[in-house]
Amino acid sequence: MADTGPQTAAKPDNTPSPSSSDAENVDRANQHSIILHPQAQPTGFFRKFRSSILFASFALLLSPLTYLYPFTAGTPVDPTDYAERTKCVLKTTPLIDGHNDLPWILRIELQNRIYGSKVDFEKRLLGHTDIQRMKQGMVGGQFWSVYVHCDTAVKHFEDPSWVVRDTLEQIDVTKRFIVEHADYLQYCADSACVRQAFKTGRVASMIGIEGGHQVGGSIASIRQVYELGARYITLTHNCDNAFATATSSVAAGGPDNGLSPLGYEAIKEMNRIGMIVDLSHVSHQTMRDVLSVARAPVVFSHSGAYAVTKHLRNVPDDVLRTVRKNDGIVMAVFVNRFLRMKHPEEASIHDVVDHILHIASVAGWEHVGLGSDFSGTPYVPVGLEDVSKFPDLIELLMEKGATDDQIRLLVGENLLRVWGAIEDRAKKIQATGEMPVEAEYEGRRWHLGVKDAPYMLRGSREKAIKAGAADKPFMFNVDDDGKHNPLEKGV
Ligand SMILES: [Zn+2]
Repeated sequence: MADTGPQTAAKPDNTPSPSSSDAENVDRANQHSIILHPQAQPTGFFRKFRSSILFASFALLLSPLTYLYPFTAGTPVDPTDYAERTKCVLKTTPLIDGHNDLPWILRIELQNRIYGSKVDFEKRLLGHTDIQRMKQGMVGGQFWSVYVHCDTAVKHFEDPSWVVRDTLEQIDVTKRFIVEHADYLQYCADSACVRQAFKTGRVASMIGIEGGHQVGGSIASIRQVYELGARYITLTHNCDNAFATATSSVAAGGPDNGLSPLGYEAIKEMNRIGMIVDLSHVSHQTMRDVLSVARAPVVFSHSGAYAVTKHLRNVPDDVLRTVRKNDGIVMAVFVNRFLRMKHPEEASIHDVVDHILHIASVAGWEHVGLGSDFSGTPYVPVGLEDVSKFPDLIELLMEKGATDDQIRLLVGENLLRVWGAIEDRAKKIQATGEMPVEAEYEGRRWHLGVKDAPYMLRGSREKAIKAGAADKPFMFNVDDDGKHNPLEKGV
């Protein structure tokens, strides 16, 4: 989520190299199986018909693959047959979308009650997302956003609220939804799982948290939502929080203070544990501050190019160049207002093509991806109305000259490389013995305890009394007969 308002954005891998395609690996495996056979001493018969036998063996080995991989079977596709090329690429490389807000829809429409006959996700629904259309769209992986609204009026960022509870509920409903549709979806907590899920024909399903407010300004909470399975946190949504300045507050005329002191500590900890740092929604200074200290690649789960559309939600060119050095990724968003500011209603699939080509030209094809924001905004471009339309976008990019290899990077290989690098970096940091971060929000108010608590340290009692600790601990009153008596005083 979510882009609902008119002004502000509402809202170990068994392949040898992250860049090699499954088709290439199939080829490699087949070559190995051919090499094993010549170890037998060739007989006269074998010598005479060696080439024919080898050819026939090779053809036999490849024949079951002809249907699946027309390229590898030696049946090249007409380069101008963009639909066929798209199918070939998306059958062998998982298309991974960076941001879909279906869990938010589950919350607002179903109050997270997903069982029963009320909604059949395997049938065509209204809105942008259902399993039928994900199949049509050849979606191979999805980061599901667990979004909870942020309140711009909140200034003391660790004040008690329901936001963390609601976030836990969104993680819960997303996991239950994935299990309920286990024939089509597979929960994934690491990058290697994505390829495994793709091989079984299921959509790899990951969880992303859309805003630092959702962990209550607490680095301990970042560690715990990682334990619960969340794999990215968007540093802000549309309000400032304990960690960073949001785009929306700068757009509203506020100062761009970038990353806060606690925000630097949060980045340090996210890199240590392998939580992906998502910079969509953050202010431009926050982007620059994070990139200046990040020890691992960053992602933008759903953002456009600022040079193409001067909306502050988009990524400026200097940041795109830094993302290249950081080996990160900007996943192109499909939200009308970020594509066309003046006439968002005219936004179309061609605008998304322009944003992707610009990001690729400045940051490189190795640093661009797809991050739709489907189900998080009502305003999607003509031609990209729902999750079934991803192949149309790929065909258009091919028409513009994108090669199959570039498309593989765009749709999934980049994200898998970036995520794998973040995982590797976390392992290396942890191997150094770096301890968990204990920093806290400045001015955090902690419970004082009570006057006669069993303190561990000398002076704590006096300190607590001076700070106003309660005179007596709360206890249930018991009368002289040993019965609970709420009226009894002085116990
Ligand atoms: Zn968003």
